[in-house]
Amino acid sequence: MASPSPLAPVPLVDRFQRAITYLRLSVIDRCDLRCTYCMPERQTFLPKSEVLSLEELHRLSLGFMARGVRKIRLTGGEPLVRRDMVDLVRALGRHIGEALDELTLTTNATQLAQHAAALAAAGVRRVNISLDTLDRARFAQIARRDALPSVLEGIAAAREAGLAVKVNTVALKGQNEDELPDLIAWAHGQGFEITLIEVMPLGVVDGDRFDHYLPLSQVRADLERRWTLLPDAHRSGGPARYMRVAETGGRLGLITPLTGNFCDGCNRVRVTATGQLYACLGGREQVDLRAALRGAQPDTALHEALDQAMAIKPEKHHFTIDRPGAPPALARHMSMTGG
Ligand code: SAM
Ligand code: SF4
Repeated sequence: MASPSPLAPVPLVDRFQRAITYLRLSVIDRCDLRCTYCMPERQTFLPKSEVLSLEELHRLSLGFMARGVRKIRLTGGEPLVRRDMVDLVRALGRHIGEALDELTLTTNATQLAQHAAALAAAGVRRVNISLDTLDRARFAQIARRDALPSVLEGIAAAREAGLAVKVNTVALKGQNEDELPDLIAWAHGQGFEITLIEVMPLGVVDGDRFDHYLPLSQVRADLERRWTLLPDAHRSGGPARYMRVAETGGRLGLITPLTGNFCDGCNRVRVTATGQLYACLGGREQVDLRAALRGAQPDTALHEALDQAMAIKPEKHHFTIDRPGAPPALARHMSMTGG
């Protein structure tokens, strides 16, 4: 039997012995919404020339797969705002069942009605949909756009196309705090899993994050007064910790970057639409994959860049939102790194 080539690429493992098998790839920084906690109304977006082409995104993804990445999540900005998004999903979808276990996306669902069937046909099985309220006026306030009806159409189309839906909800003090039990009950009634997320101090927004930061420890205590929350050992490989709501029968996840650090099990890196790899959502450690891709020997350069990323991936993030008026932990918005 042939012995393995001495040049065979080795899996990605960082300094803390964490295997990196999950890539979150932002395909665009633009968005059709302006969620108040994510970006300011007048957000500056990248010129299109800076954004990776479909071919570059595909090549980059192949480089990750060659190093053992088995799951890719496409995100943004809003991934479905990118015109050739479905082409990218088709190209990557061909690797499902071989190099890839799963290809998925995170979307605000405003344009999902047009694309759900094509995504399912390309091999997508699950989508994460961000939804912070079911109240139209409130949605228009939080997202600064009156788009709830198209989001609900998108959700219905996803279901019709056979896509499993997970709802992601950012918990916001004074904005959707009073509605969280209704949102959870609604999601469970639809057969969807739902995960609540603490707001993170990423990028300058128009308001003060302190005003809307709601610790999930407090939300959990409130929910426990209403429902029986049963332990659930389910792990998605990500930061969420799960429980079952006895009364609804559904699964509830909590992502607590501020009140409960989860970095010891980190299995992922993030790449922006310009090909900047961020080794941690909460850190500045960065490797330029676009330069590698556009150099003379892209495949070799990409492998070297990924090795470099493993050498600089930090142990954990250090988010806090502990006083009014505090600057963000990082200048970078979540819409750049994709959340
Ligand atoms: N536009 C898509 C969407 O909203 O699903 C994908 C990109 S969005 C940046 C990914 C996720 O990040 C969304 O669930 C959004 O609610 C969340 N998000 C954005 N800014 C955040 C922040 N500062 N803290 C916590 N979550 C945030
Ligand atoms: Fe757009 Fe998603 Fe950010 Fe909202 S959270 S502004 S939908 S990128």
